Amino acid sequence: MTAANEAGIEGAQSAPEECGAVYSKFDLGLMILHEPFSDATYTTGVAAFLSAGVLESMAIGGKIMSRKAVAARAAQIVDRLEELYPDVQCALHHDNPLQLLVATILSAQCTDARVNLVTPELFRKFPDAQAFAGARLKELESAIRTTGFFRNKAKNIRECCRAILKRFGGGVPSTLEDLVTLPGVGRKTANVVLGSAFGIPGITVDTHVGRLSRRLGLTKHQDPVKIEFDLMKLIPEEKWSTFSLQLIWHGRRVCHARSPRCGECTLNALCPYPARLSRSSRTPIIPPAP
Ligand code: SF4
Repeated sequence: MTAANEAGIEGAQSAPEECGAVYSKFDLGLMILHEPFSDATYTTGVAAFLSAGVLESMAIGGKIMSRKAVAARAAQIVDRLEELYPDVQCALHHDNPLQLLVATILSAQCTDARVNLVTPELFRKFPDAQAFAGARLKELESAIRTTGFFRNKAKNIRECCRAILKRFGGGVPSTLEDLVTLPGVGRKTANVVLGSAFGIPGITVDTHVGRLSRRLGLTKHQDPVKIEFDLMKLIPEEKWSTFSLQLIWHGRRVCHARSPRCGECTLNALCPYPARLSRSSRTPIIPPAP
């Protein structure tokens, strides 16, 4: 039973399904109550708005949005990103799915530019899964040393290629379910490979996608898998891969982790973050001493 049910609020039962709220309890508390709040008052406030039909009509300035409103805003964000980055491509150089898989494993905690410096020689030395599977670990480590975490990465690449040989006949599998069974391959790597090597839509949640999705109010989660599922509900399936790449580009060019350039951002009018930033930077009013 929810706090609102306990409080006997009409319509509270439907609140969890209908409310697509993407803001923190702190924001909601500020807006709804303008005073300190508890879980019960938070749920009660949302439920009351829902049953009164207010929530559906609240736009971005109102800060709470129904799922429908968030989806409509997400659609506008998709359109703007499409205009901004119409020909976005995976930044990791590759000629086939295996090369992209290896390059993506190498890109963990490393820039794409650095990976692109290492891979031409690496792929010359190890042209296929068989070559990687039979590699001496020391040789592989030395070839990828500059990408960082090279011991783990070398081990993962070799084991991954051994599994590809043993279970998939030497070809990189083309489903998420199979890809994530490979050593060193998580959902992020799998979705990169699906989208850019096989043309199968997948949402890739890296640090940029996570940060921008939260700032844009498309998710409130930190966990990449939860973010992926939130975005899957909001973004049309055929745009999943492109949308991820566009967010990554926007994160690198404009929406930097430390100093987002909100003033010159094309998504500004669709993004709740600048307003939140200005609220949080306001000087608190301290009452004069008696
Ligand atoms: S308005 Fe600011 S926070 Fe929002 S996407 Fe643009 S740069 Fe990022």
